[in-house]
Amino acid sequence: ATPTSILVSAGKAAQLGMLFRTGSALQTLEAVRVVVFDKTGTLTLGRPVVTDLLPVALPPGLSETALLGWVAAVERRSEHPIAQAMVAAAEACGATLPEVDDFRALPGYGVTATVAGQALAVGTARLMASLDIALGPATATVEALARAGKTPIYIALDRKLVAVAAVADAVKPTAAAAVARLRAQGVEVAMVTGDHRDTAQSVADAVGITEVIAEARPTDKAEAVRAFQSRGRVAFVGDGINDAPALAVADVGIALGAGADIAIETADVVLMAGDPAGVSKLIGLARATMRNIR
Ligand code: ADP
Ligand code: MG
Repeated sequence: ATPTSILVSAGKAAQLGMLFRTGSALQTLEAVRVVVFDKTGTLTLGRPVVTDLLPVALPPGLSETALLGWVAAVERRSEHPIAQAMVAAAEACGATLPEVDDFRALPGYGVTATVAGQALAVGTARLMASLDIALGPATATVEALARAGKTPIYIALDRKLVAVAAVADAVKPTAAAAVARLRAQGVEVAMVTGDHRDTAQSVADAVGITEVIAEARPTDKAEAVRAFQSRGRVAFVGDGINDAPALAVADVGIALGAGADIAIETADVVLMAGDPAGVSKLIGLARATMRNIR
């Protein structure tokens, strides 16, 4: 391989807003067999809005607005897009945000903290399970939300489920075409997400992806990439802290420009515009470059 052609292509790529962080990425990209996308912030806009707050068993004297204020007080410390949505919703309702202690962010799970002397947990079913919180009374509600493509968020106080919130996050306008173009290039496309199974399926249907792995923790995402590697080279495309392990394991890690610092630092290529359609352009460029060299 002549380094000059690769340099020329890297320059061309940079003009298109594609930055190579490792020299070998272009060669590896040429023969990518599977592209695995993260969902939230990668195929979706990553700007969720809170659509529902459904009480399950609110403690006496705590209104829905007050609870939203408590949730936002904790989420204010998290950089997750869902956290930002919760804070915006609380502000829109004029809720008061109290002081919180013992804040913990658990990537891929949610957040926990102490508020007004009580243990508040906000996040996935798996987070609730890890705290021994029973979800039975909310099952039907959660399934209806998830089938509508919304992400259910469990809210527990002192190890009791008190409410379920939902956030909706629109699919990026270019996502479906990006998937179709990769298929036309002969590349297999899959999605891996920490989100609820039904929510994940709804987004996958909207963009035309049939292989979906849901409710995946950050280490599960990396494990999924490894499993796909039995088919050939795998590119992983993601934007979050939770995507860093998968970006590291993939043959080519592709981060979106607006992503978390750790995602960008772990990636081989950065798509500055955050457009999933950049992936097929990258593969096209890689193939053209390597053809030139031979
Ligand atoms: P994705 O894989 O879709 O990018 P994440 O791994 O970041 O999603 O998160 C997985 C799930 O964990 C989210 O769908 C959400 O239910 C929950 N979660 C993560 N962070 C938070 C948070 N700060 N507040 C509430 N829920 C959260
Ligand atoms: Mg993401």
